[in-house]
Amino acid sequence: MSDTYRRIVLASRPRGWATVDDFRLEVVDMPPLEDGHVRVRNHFLSLDPYMRGRMNDAKSYAAPQALGETMIGATVGEVVESRDPGFAVGDRVAGYLGWAEYGVSAAGGLTKVGTHPLSAYLGVLGMPGMTAWYGVNKILEPKPGDTLVVSAAAGAVGGVVGQLARRAGARVVGIAGGAEKCRYVTQELGFDACVDYKTAADVKALAGSIRTAAPAGVDAHFENVGGDVLNAVMSLLNPFSRVAICGLISDYNMIPGDIPKSAIRNPGLFLTARCRMQGFIVTDHLELWSEGLRALTAEVASGRMKYRESIANGVESAPAAFIGLLKGENLGKQLVRLKDDG
Ligand code: NDP
Repeated sequence: MSDTYRRIVLASRPRGWATVDDFRLEVVDMPPLEDGHVRVRNHFLSLDPYMRGRMNDAKSYAAPQALGETMIGATVGEVVESRDPGFAVGDRVAGYLGWAEYGVSAAGGLTKVGTHPLSAYLGVLGMPGMTAWYGVNKILEPKPGDTLVVSAAAGAVGGVVGQLARRAGARVVGIAGGAEKCRYVTQELGFDACVDYKTAADVKALAGSIRTAAPAGVDAHFENVGGDVLNAVMSLLNPFSRVAICGLISDYNMIPGDIPKSAIRNPGLFLTARCRMQGFIVTDHLELWSEGLRALTAEVASGRMKYRESIANGVESAPAAFIGLLKGENLGKQLVRLKDDG
């Protein structure tokens, strides 16, 4: 094991769009290992949209990322040194060790993972999968015959949402950017239809395209994007419909103080549709993780749940891959591979 490792720190807080210059690559010394702690070689790092919010020094559900510190993030890897009886060298673990080749964690901050490919524990069998499972099963509760719409449908969360909702008997309509993503969503993931939002000139045109794909209206909507997508879907909500606000990525790079693109244009639709809209943060529901992960693991093990990964190579590639994720360059879960055979 080398005496040093590479990491990415937050160098500056962006105003508007994040750029690669907001990050810095550093080579740092391997720290000593204290009792009760474990050293992990990270094989994969997860890149997630929420990281953009942490780059701001703003009020949110979580504290901002500190400047000059390793960028936060979930990781999977193998134990290379342990001073805790619960972990041995070679154990496969998930943790939050950030954008770094190695990390040290208190034993309580690590979870041993199962036998599926390590990367799956950052996607379909990790936080994004759980997000989909929670929103579908605990908020939207699709019934046979319902129509469910999900935005960012070709992404890590959206792809799982649609497959779970189809299993529950719903007609599933995805919304995604571009023909390739729409083909993936319908042909590989089995959604009933997919709308390419990039071909719609405005909210009205987008609503028209979604209406064609959802002729019976929308009973449940899983929102990952916001902006025009949210306003278009809201105009199609059926009486007593449900909307789960999971993410509003179209506003993540907005300049503080600007009006969000996700501003709801017609609150009267709440009244006429008598709809329920609920935001959620998956980590508020850790008591449900074992139940959700059991269900997701069964779906993956049976081969019914399909997923894809977009993989960048090397910790130095993380900033550009992260900005690419915010711009929609990923298909499925965006990861960074940190070890050659990882
Ligand atoms: P994805 O893998 O879906 O990647 C993000 C996708 O968002 C891009 O590929 C892009 O797809 C789409 N996108 C980006 N900008 C826009 C835009 N302006 N308009 C429309 N689509 C856009 O990410 P995740 O699956 O990891 O996350 C999806 C959402 O879920 C995010 O909003 C995230 O913050 C949220 N989330 C919330 C959690 C919670 O606890 N509430 C937990 C985890 C995730 P396209 O090419 O189709 O535009």
